[in-house]
Amino acid sequence: MKRYEVLESLDSITGMTDEDIKINPVFIRETAIAAYSLIKQKYQVAKQIPQKVVKIEGVSSQACPVCKSNVNGKYCSYCGQRLSYGL
Ligand SMILES: [Zn+2]
Repeated sequence: MKRYEVLESLDSITGMTDEDIKINPVFIRETAIAAYSLIKQKYQVAKQIPQKVVKIEGVSSQACPVCKSNVNGKYCSYCGQRLSYGL
C-alpha cells in the first residue's frame, strides 16, 4: 500500500460503524499492517540521525539521549539510536 492509500484506508476505518468493522476484518488487518510498516520505517530513519550523548549528574557522563542508558559506541546498544560525541 502506498502512503496515501494507507491514509485513505485509516480515514475510512475511522468513520466505520461497529457493523462495518465486523464485516471488513481483512481490510482492517491489512491497513493496520501497512500503517505499522510506515511508522516503523519512519522510526528507523529517525534513529539514524545522530543525537548528542547527554550527561546525567551522578549517574553517567555519556548517556543515550533517548533511553538514558550508558553508552560508548556509535549506536546505543539498548535502543539503537545513532550517537554523536562531538561539540
Ligand atoms: Zn538508547
